[in-house]
Formats: sequence, structure tokens, C-alpha cells
Amino acid sequence: MEKDVFCKIVDGEIPAHIVYEDDEIMAFLDISQVTKGHTLVIPKKHYDNFLSVPKELMHKVMDVAQRIGQAQITSLHANGVNILTNCYEAAGQTVKHFHVHVIPRFDANDALKIEFKENAAGINLPALKDEIKKSL
Ligand code: 5GP
Repeated sequence: MEKDVFCKIVDGEIPAHIVYEDDEIMAFLDISQVTKGHTLVIPKKHYDNFLSVPKELMHKVMDVAQRIGQAQITSLHANGVNILTNCYEAAGQTVKHFHVHVIPRFDANDALKIEFKENAAGINLPALKDEIKKSL
């Protein structure tokens, strides 16, 4: 199976601007820089996405994501931070190696648009809640 681009970064086969690294975790600047400082946090070991990564490793990734978000506020003087992880193509995942986006926000007119539109009309919320609960 062909290596994904993040496995290649972990193995040093393609360059990246690394902001954090330990035995299990790596964080580097996203090549797209949707906002200035946009960083990706990954486990070095390959897992497809957030839904399939072992819990302990996911916690380590999120710990580093939190620290990077704090650093974006402190060092880059961001006014806010979005923490985002896409799972599967339908949710916008393009690189199939678990990663967390840590995206500093500076103003309302920047290049990132996340919109939550009101869409609850006609949805049976009690039944919907039961549907989700039965698989937990
Ligand atoms: P996704 O859409 O899968 O959640 O996000 C994948 C991210 O990986 C995108 O934001 C994209 O810019 C970033 N990316 C893709 N290829 C590379 C690369 O070679 N180097 C770096 N640093 N980021 C990459």
C-alpha cells in the first residue's frame, strides 16, 4: 500500500515545518495556512482517522493540540482557535492519516468559514437521541 503524505513526513521523505515532535506525536505547519499558524497534529503511527485511533494515543494528540492552541494565543496573538478533525471523505477528509487541525483565528473575514445553519425542523429529537444512544 502506498504511504500517505503524513507517513512520508514522519519518515523524513518530504519536508515539513515541525513545531513539535516526540516519540509518538508530530505537529507541523499545514501547507495551506488557511490562517497564519494553521498547524496539524498527528500520531506518527498510521491510523485512518479520529474514529479508529486508540484512545490513549488520541489523548496524546489532543494534549499537543491544546498546547499548540495555547501557543497560538500567546505567541501569535490569535483571538481564538478552532480545533477540527475530519473523518472520512464525506466530512472533507483528504489525507487518510488521523490529524487534528489547530487553526488560529484573527478576524471574522479570514479564509475559514464554518457555518452551523438551523436545520432542526421536522426532526424528532427524542427518537434521534435514542438512535445514537443505542450504539454507545
Ligand atoms: P483534511 O482535509 O484531510 O482534513 O486536511 C488535510 C490537510 O493536509 C490540508 O489542510 C492540506 O493543506 C494538508 N496537507 C496536504 N498535503 C500536505 C503536505 O505535503 N504538507 C503539509 N504540511 N500539509 C499538507
